[in-house]
Amino acid sequence: MKRIAFARIAQETNALSPVPTTLPDFEGAHYLEGDDLLRAVTDGPEVPGFFKRAELGGFIQAASERRTEIEPVPMLSAWASSGGPLSKACFETLEERLLERLRRAGRIDGMYFCLHGAMGAQGIADPESRLLQSVRSVIGNVPIVVSHDLHANVTRARVRAADAIVAYQTNPHRDHAKIGAKAGRIVIGSALGELRPTMAWRTLPMILGGGKTLDFLAPMRAVFRRMRRAERSGEALGVSTLMCHPWNDDPALGWSTVVVTNNDMAGAERLADELAEQCWERRHEQPPAFPTAREAIAEARAAKLRRRLGCVVMSDASDVVTAGAPGDSTHLLRALLADAGGLITYCAVRDPHAVAKLWTNEPGDRVALAIGGTLDPARSTPLPVVGNVVSKHEQHGFGKTVVLAVEHMRIVITEGPSMVMRPSFYKDVGLSPWKADIVMVKNFFPFLMFFLPYNRKTLFVRTSGTTDFDAAFQLQFDGPMHPRDVVDDWRPRDRMRRGLDAAAPIAEPVLHA
Ligand SMILES: [Zn+2]
Repeated sequence: MKRIAFARIAQETNALSPVPTTLPDFEGAHYLEGDDLLRAVTDGPEVPGFFKRAELGGFIQAASERRTEIEPVPMLSAWASSGGPLSKACFETLEERLLERLRRAGRIDGMYFCLHGAMGAQGIADPESRLLQSVRSVIGNVPIVVSHDLHANVTRARVRAADAIVAYQTNPHRDHAKIGAKAGRIVIGSALGELRPTMAWRTLPMILGGGKTLDFLAPMRAVFRRMRRAERSGEALGVSTLMCHPWNDDPALGWSTVVVTNNDMAGAERLADELAEQCWERRHEQPPAFPTAREAIAEARAAKLRRRLGCVVMSDASDVVTAGAPGDSTHLLRALLADAGGLITYCAVRDPHAVAKLWTNEPGDRVALAIGGTLDPARSTPLPVVGNVVSKHEQHGFGKTVVLAVEHMRIVITEGPSMVMRPSFYKDVGLSPWKADIVMVKNFFPFLMFFLPYNRKTLFVRTSGTTDFDAAFQLQFDGPMHPRDVVDDWRPRDRMRRGLDAAAPIAEPVLHA
């Protein structure tokens, strides 16, 4: 029997958020070790409320196909909401817990490691590569296969430390289990001596492009089809185009392509290059420009029939919690209070202080207080409101939650990350989307699927915050970065980043403050 370890440490970091991610953020969201982990990924749900089966469940599926030859060995699984960089203590604790389990596990013949790929940690450059190097130092020269979100940033250290890297092939992401199974088959085949993974990659000095970056729409559709065709035909074991998380602060940030073949380095190089060229050709197709709050509210007001048949869903695009924003922005909230009178509006804000204050009140109590604008005070200011407490709740992942009625608004104030992308966020606190004119979400893509039954009009609203596309322009890069700067040719930077250009020094990584 070959013993294959499996683990997950996953969080997507927005380096602009001043709210660090700490151990309770993981332990309060999703944290499992050993037999508890094995049970969750075998029987499901892997992540209650989110996934019956995700990457690790997919890996178990691949292992079960070879059950007489493979023993899956559970390590740990830790997942936290997108947010600011991990505190150093949080990162080092997770790392040490994983290494301690690996040390005690006995002989390990390979490992599947599920990493987001855009995680940051205070004071540690490229923390996910460090995790891989640490793991390698314990389990030695056995195959290590990594799966990433397609918003991962791939680095030279990462490619060196892993035998194979594969990423989601869908955006919005819906192939979590599939990618775990793919990674599983590669690590299992490698451990059994049936496969010899060869990996090539390219990195582009580009953080935005590809229009809406959806896998099933132009301009990215052709790229994703080419990727899937290469896998179906047996040309490659795994093909990935990673469109990066633009608010991640690795200086070598950018889109990348990664191709894993079976003992065919030339084939991997050829395809990684071809895909990189295809991505570069799409660099000038930028994400759409979003309306201001005032424009969006006027559009919502005009959409009378649509509101009668369902609701208008407004994405607070400058404060997208699922892309790492703090969720405490008051810009859209303030505009909705001032300008959306008469329209029943559901919205959310994260404010642990306000929740603590309101927790002593009872439903029906009249209260006056300021909400929001406290976690990231540089980007928005607290909003004074007068209203009535409607209800109080303890919600998994969101912590203590209070619903406040303020004129035409129902404001859900959360203690934890206000990860608003599903109707259940509101339904679980007694707010039916059928009764609303406007429903606010703090999400870019998945809400489009979840709100399908209710949503009659989608508006992405730009105010000012950590998830504005151009907010990423203030980060430091290792040279000119498209679309902030004019970049004529991606190849010199690719060669520099891959260490092929002896004349150019490798940029020193910038450390998180
Ligand atoms: Zn992603």
